[in-house]
Amino acid sequence: MVDFAAIRAQFPILDQEVHGHPLVYLDSAATSQKPQCVIDAEAEFYRTINAGVHRGAHELAARSTVAFEEARAKVARLVGANAEEGREEIVVTGGATAGLNLLATAFGNASLGRGGEAARRFALKPGDEIVVSKAEHHSVLLPFQELAYRTGATLKWFDLTEDGRIRSDTADEVITERTKVVAVTHVGNTTGAITDIAPIVRRAHQVGAVFILDACQSVPHLKVDFHALDVDFAAWSAHKMYGPTGVGFLYGRRELLEALPPANFGGSMVELAWMDQPAQYMEPPARFEAGTQPVAQVVAAGVAAEWMMNIGMENVEAHERTIAAELLKLGDIDGVRILGPRENVDRIGTVAFDVAGVHPHDVGQFIDAQGIAIRVGHHCAQPVHRHFGLYASNRASSGVYNSVDDAAALVEAVSQVRPFFK
Ligand code: PLP
Repeated sequence: MVDFAAIRAQFPILDQEVHGHPLVYLDSAATSQKPQCVIDAEAEFYRTINAGVHRGAHELAARSTVAFEEARAKVARLVGANAEEGREEIVVTGGATAGLNLLATAFGNASLGRGGEAARRFALKPGDEIVVSKAEHHSVLLPFQELAYRTGATLKWFDLTEDGRIRSDTADEVITERTKVVAVTHVGNTTGAITDIAPIVRRAHQVGAVFILDACQSVPHLKVDFHALDVDFAAWSAHKMYGPTGVGFLYGRRELLEALPPANFGGSMVELAWMDQPAQYMEPPARFEAGTQPVAQVVAAGVAAEWMMNIGMENVEAHERTIAAELLKLGDIDGVRILGPRENVDRIGTVAFDVAGVHPHDVGQFIDAQGIAIRVGHHCAQPVHRHFGLYASNRASSGVYNSVDDAAALVEAVSQVRPFFK
């Protein structure tokens, strides 16, 4: 049995009052809070071994390189990726958005013929198709929409069910022989719905398309194994999985990373550079890690990954399911509509809702006055809001540190919103 009260006690930020109430933090889909061990890891790195990695002939540089690569290996273990030297499948990025842009830029470069024959599988031309879904965060939609504009490819998308699930059952029609890239979210950041990706992955591979997973909202909440899911690439952010801001990871199947041309250029990613000849780039992951990396943050993200594995992601899933069950009671309040699946099946504890006749900013402020933090707005996902006939909503989202009491406090507060604004 995991003692989740003891886990909550590891988060110093939660031990405070807001507007005279104990803080209830229900905004983990935006960013998670950090346990003391993660906070300490970053400070400890600066206190003891701070130095540039992969260069430097001195002892601190060697130690920081080891810490950086050990962190990469821990993150790889969390998501079922290869970690052994020369076979690494985890690329350090600045976050999910940076990782997704890296892919779109690299595919654009391949479309210009960069990367030679090996990179042809990533190249797009007019008539080719890129498939996303209406449930995507703008960080998926926009890089691939721009890639379509740049290459002349056509952007297509999966529609959603009434309760906001991606229509995986239409994979055979939406993905065609012309599809080259498919990018969808593993878990909707507004709906909390877990996508049934298996039919989409199968169809994408059947037509030779590359499948990209936005794993931002799955890695912190579910046990994920990218090999078992058979995805080609996956991007996510450390700050949503109890790690620091400013850093994220891109998983790529090793042979695809080896074939992919670089997206960013500069120091630390090149083997040989000349004035009058094209450069010779390093093997992955270094090829994709141009410039000085956020080493302290990566090391702390590795600590976060290990911390999550020590709790056990099955335990995290089970715990957060109990919170989701309580949050879903929001839908029983008169005038409150949940934007996403109502049943506690194939979903996480991210529950967006609309309160009839009350603007989300008013709802957010009313809730905040009781010490409860939720997110209001469009959550960087305007198309999914349009699907529900709205521009904005309120969103509660759980983390390991939440209790059923936290969710119940929100339900109680939301039940007072309409009477208050009447
Ligand atoms: N994708 C999803 C589903 C998200 O929830 C987010 C963050 O809100 C992102 C992508 C972008 O993540 P970041 O802003 O950390 O790059």
